[in-house]
Formats: sequence, C-alpha cells, structure tokens
Amino acid sequence: MAKIRLLSPRLANQIAAGEVVERPASVIKELLENSIDAGATHLHIDIEQGGVKLMRVRDNGCGIEQDDLPLALSRHATSKIYQLDDLEAVSTLGFRGEALASISSVARLALTSSTDGNVGWQAKAEGRDMQAETSPAAHPQGTTVEVRDLFFNTPARRKFLRTEKTEQNRIDDVIKRVALSQFGVGFTLRTNGRVVHQWRPATAQIEQERRVAQVCGPAFMENAVHIDIERTGLRLWGWVALPTFSRSQADLQHFYVNGRAIRDKLVSHAIRQAYQDVLYHGRHPAFVLFLELDPASVDVNVHPTKHEVRFRDNRSVHDFLFKSLHHALAEVRPADQLSVHS
Ligand code: ADP
Ligand code: MG
Repeated sequence: MAKIRLLSPRLANQIAAGEVVERPASVIKELLENSIDAGATHLHIDIEQGGVKLMRVRDNGCGIEQDDLPLALSRHATSKIYQLDDLEAVSTLGFRGEALASISSVARLALTSSTDGNVGWQAKAEGRDMQAETSPAAHPQGTTVEVRDLFFNTPARRKFLRTEKTEQNRIDDVIKRVALSQFGVGFTLRTNGRVVHQWRPATAQIEQERRVAQVCGPAFMENAVHIDIERTGLRLWGWVALPTFSRSQADLQHFYVNGRAIRDKLVSHAIRQAYQDVLYHGRHPAFVLFLELDPASVDVNVHPTKHEVRFRDNRSVHDFLFKSLHHALAEVRPADQLSVHS
C-alpha cells in the first residue's frame, strides 16, 4: 500500500464537486438558492451556450462583506449554520458551505457584491487558484456570481455534457422549479442574449396562478383546483389537476417541503393513492404542492443535492397527504369541473 496523504484542498473540492456540480443546471440551482437565502426579490439570470460558456446570476439580496468574499469561496464556510442545533432546524436552502467552493474548483468564478450599493468588491477563483485579494468593483446592493467555462480543467466531466439544447432545457427546468416555489421573487432569464422569461413577483393568489400558468402551461391551471388544508402543524396548499387532466408521464409534478423541491417515495405513494380511484391505470397526476411543517420534524441533510428529505413522523405525513388530497378530489363534482374548464 502507498503512504497515506492528505488531499490538497483543490483536489478535495474537485471530488466534492462531483456530487454537487454534475452539470450546468446543478450550478444554477446552487446559485439561485444562494440568492434566495440572501433575501433577494429579483434575480437576473444570463445563460450562454447551455451554461457551459457562461452562467451569471445577479441578485438584490443582502450582499457579502469584503472580508467574507474569500471565505464564501472556501469549503465548509457558511453563514447559515453555526452549530449542530442550527442544522436540526435549518430554514435556509443552503447550509453545507460547499457549492461555491465546488463550482470554483471546476470553472472560472467571479463573485462581486455590495452590502450597501456604495462600495462593492470582487473575488475570483479559477479552478486551482483562488485569488487571495479582493479588488474594488462597482455593484448595486446584492451579489453577482459569474461562472465561465464549466469543467475547463476537468475534461473527463466535460465529456458527459449533452447538447447545448439539452443542458439549456435542464437549466430551464431548475429555474421553473425555483420560480414555482418563490412567488415573492421576480425572475428575468436571458439565454444567448435574448430575454426568454420575465416573471414578476406574485403575492395575491391570482398573480400566483398566473405564474403557475406561465411555468406549467395554461392548460394545467385551467384544469386545476386550489387547495389549502391545515391540520396539527401540517399545511398542504397549492394546485392539483383534476383527474381528467392526467398525463402519460410524471412530468408535471412539483412537490416542495418548506420551499425546497424534493423527490420522495413516501410523498409519491401518498399522492398516487389519493388519485387511485379516479385515475386510469398508467396515467399520472399533475400538481404543484407545498407541504409546510416544523423544520425540526424534517431532516434535509440526507444528500449533498438536498433533493431528498427524511420525515421524523412518516406515518402522519403520509396520512395527512393522502387524506387531504383524497378529500379534495372527492369534493370536485362534475359541476365544479365544468366551471373550472370555462
Ligand atoms: P451555503 O449556501 O451552503 O452556505 P455556498 O458555498 O453556496 O454555501 O455559499 C457560501 C456562503 O457565501 C453563504 O453561506 C453565504 O454567506 C455567501 N453567499 C453565497 N451566495 C450569496 C449571495 N448570492 N448573496 C449573499 N451571500 C451569498
Ligand atoms: Mg449555497
């Protein structure tokens, strides 16, 4: 056996990047989550060549202090949790302090920020080298993260990228998922220099429904009912499509736990059961649903991408989802369906 040696920070980051940064869309997910955690109300997103050439996210959030800029690019550096107790009840989307370090180990990254809109600073990192010094840079209050030449120093990963169109589609999916859960945030998406989406912040239900229609298509909204059910610390709200609007694929299913998009067997099972009597075999329901519960009763630290969660009390979550949806679907009588269609 060879001698045991500590990995260099650069190599450790590149290994970690394998988990977090699979493709351009995963970078976008991390950047959007950071902006949202920073309290931003509008995000400007620029994508060029499927994200491989450029991904830029500008937000109007709280910004980063000059001293913190190099730290933000370091591994295991986060402003979101300080102790184990914080992890138990984490309410931000991020907390692992890995994303920026991982991204900057496989791309050229520039982080520019201002906490007051007067003085701004920039820090850069390119694959191996992190610039130690920050330099002054004009920036309105908020942060811009610019990621160029993804995987420029890891050709093996670059080979796994698909066509520009495929990567762009995946990016669009991520943006849509985030946009659906953050009604209070406006989004501007520019692809190869052209504005492709412009979603204004939505507060009233009618504005939210407009956003859902923009993201999921008008047909979904026309065939969906709004629900909002609360029971013993659990709240389920959102829109569920009528059984008549079923899909041949499970491609219009958005489920969020405390604002985080997740995929979960227990959740899928509960929803499928609720639709069981009213859906033809082989058809899939369509929904945009938000489950809200005490952050302490759900563990989000299951996987680096945080797509999975663990509920403390599986039974009651399953029960609540099933009953709420079953009831809501049973209440939709033919007359309601007509009025929803019109
Ligand atoms: P995490 O989000 O898990 O904390 P990241 O590597 O994504 O880890 O970010 C590291 C830190 O950089 C964050 O904790 C936050 O303090 C800061 N940061 C990153 N992006 C932004 C942003 N858009 N606005 C303000 N602060 C940010
Ligand atoms: Mg983050």
